[in-house]
Amino acid sequence: MPMPKCSYCSSMILFGGVREGELRFCNAECHEGGALIAGMREIPEDTVRQAVWKIHQGPCLLCGGQGPVDVHASHRVWSALVVSSWTSKPQISCRRCGIKAQLGGALFSLGLGWWGLPWGLVMAPVQIVRNLWGIAKGPDPLEPSEELNQIARIQIATGTATDQVP
Ligand SMILES: [Zn+2]
Ligand SMILES: [Zn+2]
Repeated sequence: MPMPKCSYCSSMILFGGVREGELRFCNAECHEGGALIAGMREIPEDTVRQAVWKIHQGPCLLCGGQGPVDVHASHRVWSALVVSSWTSKPQISCRRCGIKAQLGGALFSLGLGWWGLPWGLVMAPVQIVRNLWGIAKGPDPLEPSEELNQIARIQIATGTATDQVP
């Protein structure tokens, strides 16, 4: 059985998550974001494509460097005795900034992830491997990812696109 993926941030869902019909989300935050997805179906594909390519070919918003710009998720977990908390954060940036965030996430999880039972011992390696996987295999530089398409749709749907296509 394939690992279910969050319909909003595309992270793999290992445990729990929020379910709504066909859609699954890793947590309430993603679920809220996912509520927009329904409204986004109305946006014409052309509008989305234009907006996506604009982000993809534009400069990195974090370092100002050259693209391609795409979604790079970084993952972290911290634990304290019986408490563990893990998050996955999608970041829109160039690959260099993406790797920086993933390295940071891996080191953070390596240092702070383990010290809780039972989830620390499970999630520390999971989050570290997710980061390493992201570092090893970035998105296709020639084509915007489905995640970036999704984010562009959200930006248009919420009116937060930096420069709306008329
Ligand atoms: Zn998610
Ligand atoms: Zn950058």
